[in-house]
Amino acid sequence: MSYDYDLFVIGAGSGGVRAARMSASYGAKVAIAEEYRVGGTCVIRGCVPKKLFVYASHYAEDFESAAGFGWQVGERSFDWPTLIGNKDKEIDRLNGIYIRNLEASGVEILSGHASVKDAHTVLLDGREISAKYILVAVGATPFMPEIPGIEHAITSNEAFHIETLPDDIMVVGGGYIAVEFAGIFNGLGVNTTLVYRGEEILRGFDNEVRTHLHGELVKKGLTVKTESDIAEITPSGDGYEVTFKDGSKQTTGLVMYATGRVPKTDDLGLQQAGVALGARGEVLVDARSQTNIDSIYAVGDVTERAQLTPVAIREGAAFAETVFNNNPQEVDHSLIPTAVFSQPPIGTVGMGEEQARAAGHAIDVYATDFRTLKDTLSGSDEKTLMKLIVEQDSDKILGLHIVGPDSGEMIQAFGVAVTMGATKAQFDATIAVHPTAAEELVTFKQPRSAS
Ligand code: FAD
Ligand code: NDP
Repeated sequence: MSYDYDLFVIGAGSGGVRAARMSASYGAKVAIAEEYRVGGTCVIRGCVPKKLFVYASHYAEDFESAAGFGWQVGERSFDWPTLIGNKDKEIDRLNGIYIRNLEASGVEILSGHASVKDAHTVLLDGREISAKYILVAVGATPFMPEIPGIEHAITSNEAFHIETLPDDIMVVGGGYIAVEFAGIFNGLGVNTTLVYRGEEILRGFDNEVRTHLHGELVKKGLTVKTESDIAEITPSGDGYEVTFKDGSKQTTGLVMYATGRVPKTDDLGLQQAGVALGARGEVLVDARSQTNIDSIYAVGDVTERAQLTPVAIREGAAFAETVFNNNPQEVDHSLIPTAVFSQPPIGTVGMGEEQARAAGHAIDVYATDFRTLKDTLSGSDEKTLMKLIVEQDSDKILGLHIVGPDSGEMIQAFGVAVTMGATKAQFDATIAVHPTAAEELVTFKQPRSAS
């Protein structure tokens, strides 16, 4: 049986693009459908523009710090439209590079909404196209709870295009996006309140990391309202009146929800085609990203294994190796270094203290918090946290956690060592780099606690 394509990829984001290009390089005839912009969430309205915003918002603090080093920084002002314009230009540039790279790899780009009709047929805006394999790489989309007035709130999608910065903002959620955007707005001079329904932000992270970051956010002037949830949002003057579930009210210029992202599988035809979905609409796949229908695979956020770009890329690459290079590969999701670009940022790999104990490990915990050398003159009272979780029997590093400047960069490097199964003795044998903050991680002497 002949098909229009060997591979039809739905979604030109991190996972889809990598899978399409690699599959084409192995000789497959590949088409990729995109309904919005090639590059996907990470490039167009995720990691990249977000990190540019983080850089932008940190200048306020840098100007303050400069005085202690003898610099007088003159009159300062911030122009949001300049940032948005420059960010948009950069995103356009990247979008162009993604398109050119796909074309240079021989992948055909098709614009429009694609859905699955059956095991070998895709509908692109109603037109039938056949393929030997279909790869679902449609990503996820912001989730918002259904409360009265939710239509007045924005999500991260809109946050990249706000016309005017409000005087104050309420950011709802306690995960990656909420803490990152709360830091961005706060740094840009917006009076920011982070509203989180639970006891402490960043559920799932090491508890000390969570409380440490919470404390640092407050020091920077953010209001963090925990155990707090919004019942209703109503327009009020130029902004909104927010009613909390306990009946209290607060006005704000803008409400942003960052309450998770759900797989974008509605309107995709998967159930009619017989593809098994999970409770949140995620595509269920095996270790090789294959669904219950042999010819249909799925990678990236839509599978809800880990909603991170490097993971989607790795899954896309493993798919291409498995299906088109006769080199079956499975992605190991057990150890994923990650950074939260909060201010200060978090870098983490492996287990938190509580998680390690809950898993039954006998552990030694090494931890320190301190002011960095830079902050002795900057006047900032920011503190950096460094923490190691070590398994007593094997001496293996089970978890490594940093809250402090450049921790995203550090965790990429430390992630290599932890992935290789490094022990505390090997950390100790590593000569420190002085003066750095990271040297603390190779100079720990006594465990703070053991159990
Ligand atoms: P996506 O990149 O979302 O790509 C899916 C593509 O499919 C989209 O372009 C979409 O338009 C298209 N599509 C969907 N349905 C259809 C259809 N039916 N037909 C045609 N096209 C369709 N991750 C990190 O690792 N680091 C970060 O710093 C980071 N920051 C983030 C910040 C924000 C604000 C957000 C929202 C996410 C961030 N992420 C970050 C997560 C990261 O963006 C995702 O994990 C990653 O983009 C997932 O890649 P993907 O290929 O699964 O999906
Ligand atoms: P997260 O899953 O990280 O966090 C969602 C937050 O919203 C949680 O604090 C959750 O609370 C809260 N929440 C969920 N439902 C509700 C509700 N109905 N009412 C009130 N609060 C609610 O999702 P994000 O949206 O922050 O980000 C999505 C994913 O994108 C991240 O998990 C991450 O994988 C990825 N990402 C990665 C980044 C990075 O690598 N730096 C940056 C940004 C995103 P609770 O804890 O109580 O469930």
